[in-house]
Amino acid sequence: MKLSARLSSARLLPIALFALSLAASAQTPPAQNDPAPPDLVLSGKVTGTQNHTYIEVPFEVPAGIHRISVDFSYTGHEARTTLDLGIEDPYRFRGESGGNKSHFTLSETDATPSYLPGPILAGRWHLLLAVPNIRAASVATFRAEIRFNSHLEDSSFTLAPLEQGSRWYRGDLHMHTAHSDGSCAGQSGRRVPCPLFFTAQTAASRGLDFIAISDHNVESQYNEMRELQPWFDRLLFIPAREMTTFWGHFNIYGTTQPIDYRVAAHNGRDYNAILREVAAKGAIASINHAEAPGGEVCMGCRWEPPMPVDMSLFTGVEVINGGSMLFSSDAFWEQQLRDGHRLTAVGGSDSHNALAPAQPPNSIGFPTTVVEARELSVAAILDGIRHGRVFIDLTGSRDKRIDIDAEAGAAHARMGEDLVLKNGEAVHLSVHVAACAHDALHLFVDGKETAALPAISIDQPDQTLSATWTAAGSGRHWIRAEVHDSSGRLLLFSNPVYINFP
Ligand SMILES: [Zn+2]
Ligand SMILES: [Zn+2]
Repeated sequence: MKLSARLSSARLLPIALFALSLAASAQTPPAQNDPAPPDLVLSGKVTGTQNHTYIEVPFEVPAGIHRISVDFSYTGHEARTTLDLGIEDPYRFRGESGGNKSHFTLSETDATPSYLPGPILAGRWHLLLAVPNIRAASVATFRAEIRFNSHLEDSSFTLAPLEQGSRWYRGDLHMHTAHSDGSCAGQSGRRVPCPLFFTAQTAASRGLDFIAISDHNVESQYNEMRELQPWFDRLLFIPAREMTTFWGHFNIYGTTQPIDYRVAAHNGRDYNAILREVAAKGAIASINHAEAPGGEVCMGCRWEPPMPVDMSLFTGVEVINGGSMLFSSDAFWEQQLRDGHRLTAVGGSDSHNALAPAQPPNSIGFPTTVVEARELSVAAILDGIRHGRVFIDLTGSRDKRIDIDAEAGAAHARMGEDLVLKNGEAVHLSVHVAACAHDALHLFVDGKETAALPAISIDQPDQTLSATWTAAGSGRHWIRAEVHDSSGRLLLFSNPVYINFP
C-alpha cells in the first residue's frame, strides 16, 4: 500500500501549506463552514495501483471527546477518480456514506444519517476509504479535516444559518413528541407516541421559523432532528430539553450534550449545578409554567424548589404557556424583575399533540415567541433571547409586531435594553405595533397599568404610538406593553425597557 497518511495538528501546519490545501480542494468545496480550525488533518495520495482496494487511515482520538466531525475532499474528479468514505472506532464499524456526503458528524447522541451515534471512545480510529475507481496513471490526493467536540455541531443541526439578515423570527420554544409524552392518533385512530416529524411539519405549515422540541429530560430526539434538518431548510431546529424535576420544570436551549437532570437532596445535586453546566456548554435555561398547579394536581409542575437557586443563572421565564394560556406566569416573572433579575419573558405551546387543530390549548405556535435575530441560526436566536429582543404572540399570527423605543434626553433604549433616568426625568415611549388595528395598547410600569399611561387605541395596520412617563425617584423600573383586543383578550406581550437596572 502506497498510502502516505500524515497525521498532524492543523495548528502546527504552516499557514502557506494550509492555504495551498484549501486551494487544491476548491473543486469539491466541503459542504460546511465550521469556523473552528480542525484538530487533525489527515492527507495522503492514492495511485492507480490502489484501484479497487480499501484503505484505512488511522488517527488517534484523545480522552474526553464526545463528538467527531469530518470534512473530506480529494482531487481527480475530472479523471473519474472516486473515493468513498466511512469510519470505524476502536471496536466497530460506525458508518459509511460512499460518495454521498463529504461532511459528517457523530456524537454520543446523534449522527449524520449513514453513521451511528454512540460513545466516542478514546484510542485508534480509522477513516475508511474505498477506491471504486482510479485510472492506472492517476494520482489523487485526499484531505480529511477532523474536528473534536465542535461547538457548532453540539448546538445546531445545520452548519450554516438557514437565513441571513436581521429580522423578527417566529418560533415555538416548548413542545413534546414521541421522545417523551407527545401523542397523536395513529393510522387506526389509536393514540400512539407521536413521531417527531409531525411536529416539524405542523410548525412549518404554520409559518414558524424555528422550533425547540423540548422532550422531558432526554437526548434521544437529536438523532432524528439531525436527519430532518436538511429537508426543513426554512425551519431551524434548536436543541432543547425540558429538565423535569420534582420541584419545577425548565427548558434548556442550545446543546445536545447530556446533562443530568436529577436534583435531589440525597444525591447532592442542586439546580445551580445543572445551570452552571448549561452555561458552560453555551446554552441557556428558562423556567416553564412557574405558576402551574403543583402538588398532586400536577406533580412537579410548579416552580417551588426546596433549595436556594441562583436566579441569575436563568435567561428566561415562560410567561405564557400554551396550556389554554392559563399558566400565565407573569406574577412570578415580575417578582424576578422586582428582585433585579433580568429574565426574558418567552412563551411556549407545550404541545403534546402535533396534529391538534390550530388553536389553543397546547397547539403548535400558540403562543409563538418572536425573536429579533441577526440571522436564522441557533446562536443568533439564543442571543436575541439573551438580549430581550423578544415578544410573545398569543394569536399564532404571522405578522403581528410590537417593539418599544424609549428616549430620555440623549439616551435611548429599545425593548430589552437599558435606560438610565435621573430623578424626575421624563421618558418618551414610542411603541411600534403592526397588524393590530382596532385593538388597544396597554403600557405597564413595574407590572401595573398607571393613570399616567392610559390605554391607547390602535387604528392603523402599522402604527407608532407615543406616551410619556416621568420617573419619581431614581429607583429601578421596567416598562412593557401588551396589546388587547376589544374584549380585553391578550394578543401580544412585550419584554420591558429596563430603567436603572444594575
Ligand atoms: Zn413542564
Ligand atoms: Zn412541557
